[in-house]
Amino acid sequence: MPIPEPSRRVLLIEDSVVSRRLVSLILRPESVAIVEAEDGERGFEQAYRTLPDLILLDLRMPGWDGFVTLEHLKEEARTRKIPVIFLTAEEATSAKAKALDMGAVDFVSKPFDPIELRARVRAALRAKQTQDLLEQRAHLDGLTGLGNRHALVERLASDWSQSRRRGSSLAVIMADLDRFKAVNDLLGHAAGDSILRGAAEALSQAVRAGDFVARYGGEEFVIVASDCDIPGATAIVERFREALLAMKEPYNPHGHRVTTSVGVASSQGLMLSGPEDLIRQADAALYRAKEAGRDAVWIYDGGEFRSAVGIRIMNTISYG
Ligand code: GH3
Ligand code: MG
Ligand code: MG
Ligand code: MG
Repeated sequence: MPIPEPSRRVLLIEDSVVSRRLVSLILRPESVAIVEAEDGERGFEQAYRTLPDLILLDLRMPGWDGFVTLEHLKEEARTRKIPVIFLTAEEATSAKAKALDMGAVDFVSKPFDPIELRARVRAALRAKQTQDLLEQRAHLDGLTGLGNRHALVERLASDWSQSRRRGSSLAVIMADLDRFKAVNDLLGHAAGDSILRGAAEALSQAVRAGDFVARYGGEEFVIVASDCDIPGATAIVERFREALLAMKEPYNPHGHRVTTSVGVASSQGLMLSGPEDLIRQADAALYRAKEAGRDAVWIYDGGEFRSAVGIRIMNTISYG
């Protein structure tokens, strides 16, 4: 499958104005968009915000030097996979080895050989493109086209750290279709698959732009919603449940009544040790929804689990 040539962005983190000018000039024929940062700390911020395809990182800088900056880039889930090429002066072999061991993909020595610098940048960008493509495929669920479990783990880590930085809340919604074994037994596995695709479609329509949806297991789905509190999350859930009930052709030609049990957890006001805590709480809430008889929504928002019925009353606009 050919993918369209994306506009490739290179972040240049380098304290010397002269070197920055020079690199920009040398890379001009490569038709890459270059963003500059004059120190490691600002470079990291820039990388975090703009997610460039490649980082050219000066080793010697005041403040965060190249090593410290690389350390931050590798620690942060959002920036971990951006390839980094070190720009080094007359460094000892041990410094270059350390850079590679820390996860840099390459280094280029100063003074720059223009042909070499361009070739190394091209090579790194090619590798990044292949990596992106493979990752895209490895992160998709074959049946529904949603993210898979692997994608969920990564996205959750990334959204979690972003929500921590911004002090915003992050919601996790877990939905498990009710009595789905009976659907297969009754209508056949192909019809079951079709309903799963319909559920995925319904879910994609129910979430807001920027929310993430994954197929977590057989008939289990997970939504990760940033900047989302409990009422916001339950609004998503209600849209999903209505769409499930309304599901007809082409996904549900028999008009089977599709319901789901849902668990909701939001990080708002909670002391959580990590994103896996959110998953655990949403899962526990889902378990309670099943126990309570299915076709229900349960919430964890700190002290206790409770049914979403109270929220429905408080938040009538969302529920029409
Ligand atoms: P509950 O309300 O407790 O969730 O009951 P359930 O039958 O949905 O739950 P259970 O976990 O016992 O069974 C899940 C069923 O979902 C088992 C399997 O038949 C079905 N299932 C899982 N993955 C797929 C799939 O990819 N395609 C189809 N057609 N069915 C699947
Ligand atoms: Mg320098
Ligand atoms: Mg089920
Ligand atoms: Mg299940």
